[in-house]
Amino acid sequence: MNNSKKIAVNFNAQKIREDFPILNTRVRGKNLIYFDNAATTQKPSCVIERIKKYYEHENSNVHRGVHYLSEIATHEYENSRETVKNFINATSTEEIVFTRGTTEAINLVAYSFGKTFISEGDEIIITEMEHHSNIVPWQLMCEDRKAKLKILPFDDNGELILDEYEKLFNEKTKLVSVVHISNSLGTINPIKQIIDIAHSYAIPVLIDGAQSIMHSKIDVQDLGCDFFVFSGHKVYGPTGIGVLYGKKELLDQMVPYQGGGDMIKSVTFSKTIYNDLPYKFEAGTPNIAGAIGLKSALEYLTNIGIEQISSYENELLIYATEKLSQIPQLKIIGTAKEKGPIISFILDNIHPHDIGTILDYEGIAVRTGHHCTQPVMEHFKIPATTRASFSFYNTKEEIDFLFEGIQKVIKVFS
Ligand code: PMP
Repeated sequence: MNNSKKIAVNFNAQKIREDFPILNTRVRGKNLIYFDNAATTQKPSCVIERIKKYYEHENSNVHRGVHYLSEIATHEYENSRETVKNFINATSTEEIVFTRGTTEAINLVAYSFGKTFISEGDEIIITEMEHHSNIVPWQLMCEDRKAKLKILPFDDNGELILDEYEKLFNEKTKLVSVVHISNSLGTINPIKQIIDIAHSYAIPVLIDGAQSIMHSKIDVQDLGCDFFVFSGHKVYGPTGIGVLYGKKELLDQMVPYQGGGDMIKSVTFSKTIYNDLPYKFEAGTPNIAGAIGLKSALEYLTNIGIEQISSYENELLIYATEKLSQIPQLKIIGTAKEKGPIISFILDNIHPHDIGTILDYEGIAVRTGHHCTQPVMEHFKIPATTRASFSFYNTKEEIDFLFEGIQKVIKVFS
């Protein structure tokens, strides 16, 4: 939590809510309160309408046709790439590869970077708070290349122990891969410092931005990261589309991830010539509607203003943290000084699944479980947490309902 951020007193969440039809859903006679935004965000009407327009008026395959519809689809798909490039301030669209999501983007880098740059005995640094999708692809790659994973630990507040970080580097280190905002702890990691230290050893860094892209302004040139990955569905866009940003000089050297149409310039049985960036990494028909919907989502966020969003969400986080801390039986897991709008908590002697089920009867959607971060659960010696994650369409009133809902849970089990 960052108390120093300016509070967005004028942010009109009630007005914003009108853009999200799903928020009118009634759940067992109650108004839906959607606090599962870290799992996926809801979609504004402009995104839904844009996808509908694509299928009604523009649907065609890209890059391969000279006919009218194919030209429109190609133009719109490539426009989306341009919008992504501008949104994260990449230098060129060659550095923007469309993927299925964060998971596929990390798998792509693990495979291609691994095949290109990793040999036996090399080492990759990740952290103890990574999502499984920033652990398992590296394990697969390490198995294949006979390389090794080194783990940077975090403390009991959920902050990375940076004193340990530099000790992990040696002549075998080849890459650092770190989450920007932890999906289970909410911690905002000091990625600029993490990147700068790695670069002082000439080691590239991948940032998992799955939880930061929707909460903070991302400028990949300012960060200096070598790879940045995120999912469309977490940034108010469609599922099945995501982005890999990679520095051109690295992507250029890396072997393709998948083979097929569009990723080649020419194919013969004796020699195949791969396509230029970014197409070298986009084999087969891409998710055209997804990319176009993502463009619409990014434009929607830009219109509201990501700084406005960020400070309003921080205000919700401060309010919720203070409110939930009043419950004596409740313990917040993840108490870093810098946090995104995510609160994981446990209640004395009540399993998170029971908490989630009872809250659902109140219309409140939270997530329970290990949140695909089992090493984080292992650190705290707990099987699971209940997680409430906020968006700019949430309100303090909804947080009051969560507070009351938790009191009900405690009453049921007392
Ligand atoms: N990393 C983090 C930090 C995440 O929160 C998630 C999604 N929960 C992922 C990676 C994976 O994203 P996706 O399932 O959209 O590929």
